[in-house]
Amino acid sequence: MQLYKSTINKIEETLKFLGIDGGVLEKLKKPQKILEFKVSAGGKKYKGWRVQYNNARGPFKGGIRFHPGVNLDEMKALAVWMALKAAVMNIPLGGAKGGIAVDPFKLSQKELESLSRGYIKAIYKNIGPWKDIPAPDVNTNAQIMAWMMDEYSKITDNFSPAVITGKPVEIGGSYGRENATGVGGAFVLIDFLKKNYFCDKFEKGKNKCPIRLMGDHSDFSKLTVAIQGFGNVGSSIAQALYKEGFKITAISDVQGGIRSEHGFNIFEVIDCVKKTGTVSGCYCVGNMCEAQGNYKVISNKDLLESDVDILIPAALENQITKENAGKIKAKIILEMANGPINPEADEILKKRGVLMIPDILANAGGIVVSYFEWMQNLQGDQWEEGAVLSKLHKLMAGSLADVIKIVEKYNTDMRTAAYILAIERISRAMNLRGGF
Ligand code: NAD
Repeated sequence: MQLYKSTINKIEETLKFLGIDGGVLEKLKKPQKILEFKVSAGGKKYKGWRVQYNNARGPFKGGIRFHPGVNLDEMKALAVWMALKAAVMNIPLGGAKGGIAVDPFKLSQKELESLSRGYIKAIYKNIGPWKDIPAPDVNTNAQIMAWMMDEYSKITDNFSPAVITGKPVEIGGSYGRENATGVGGAFVLIDFLKKNYFCDKFEKGKNKCPIRLMGDHSDFSKLTVAIQGFGNVGSSIAQALYKEGFKITAISDVQGGIRSEHGFNIFEVIDCVKKTGTVSGCYCVGNMCEAQGNYKVISNKDLLESDVDILIPAALENQITKENAGKIKAKIILEMANGPINPEADEILKKRGVLMIPDILANAGGIVVSYFEWMQNLQGDQWEEGAVLSKLHKLMAGSLADVIKIVEKYNTDMRTAAYILAIERISRAMNLRGGF
């Protein structure tokens, strides 16, 4: 099933469950605006989109993706998830997403800059600090955000750092933004484990205890982790968990993966990836060869089916489907990518008692620190990294607790609980404003 349709189905199910009607579903079925255009670079034209899904709770907000697989259905689904994420985190933003169907690795740096500027030329009338605030996503980064901010500022003849987030810190970016999504996911996972949710707390509910921590609940050294995707999100959550003592035994990227039962030194892997461009050649880095005889080169399929405690998909959508859901061995899946588990796989995994911490909670650290960046820009301020991270931790922990309260109240799973929280907040805002 298409991504957007299955997302709207889940919203419909949630609205029915909450007994909300009054035409809310009809209004949530369609994005408020879809921009479709072509952007040129290096003598070629590429299809581009900006989807503005819902702004009942605040300006549209969402990343920009450069990937050959980008299409309108994906953009629409990603825009909905952004709106849901902002609502789960209770921050005053709506949801949008954009992208270009292009392989940026085939472009020169000059062509990439011209593509990025071209994207802003196509959408500048529809974005702005109080209208729609883009950010990075797959294959876009701080440099691209800098070009985009510059282009918008030039066209509007107004220095406007608040129009885009994920910028370099020298031009209004926030300290902590680069690693925010990964660090935020680590906060959620660690808080979840430390509180022994569904083990000590709410033991009798629908959810089985996935992992029970003993002692002072802060020794993670026995927990093994597999991470799919080693870009911004995958590598930053890998670092955050490695620092906390988790054993990361499998990692992959688009070119393949590596496994070592002894666990990787993530900083050595990162150094290696900087040199070689892929994790798939980094199984034998630093002093790991001698220390870890048991490494192996693996495929992405192997990675997802790894015998680990925690699986972290941090690449793209639809990675876990009915084909492989029955073979997943992890006890917890922390969804750092958007939409990595499709609805059929979700049902299979639930029946098998695999606990899924949903994307709209787990990977919301990016939108939260984007929100902080936007606030800093509007105030002409820049906060220290420590302040950013402690505010991030507070919001992530608070939203996790909110989701768990709903799990307890309705005896449901975490994804459904997160949808209930988000849809209640969005529909309340729509009703209060009345103009939707
Ligand atoms: P990125 O471009 O920095 O990294 C993507 C990684 O996934 C790369 O390592 C790439 O090699 C790997 N990959 C791509 N296709 C793959 C495949 N078929 N199999 C295995 N690995 C593959 O992107 P990112 O910003 O890290 O985003 C990753 C995911 O996290 C996306 O779903 C994105 O929407 C989501 N996300 C990102 C942010 C953010 O702040 N960047 C925030 C929330 C959610």
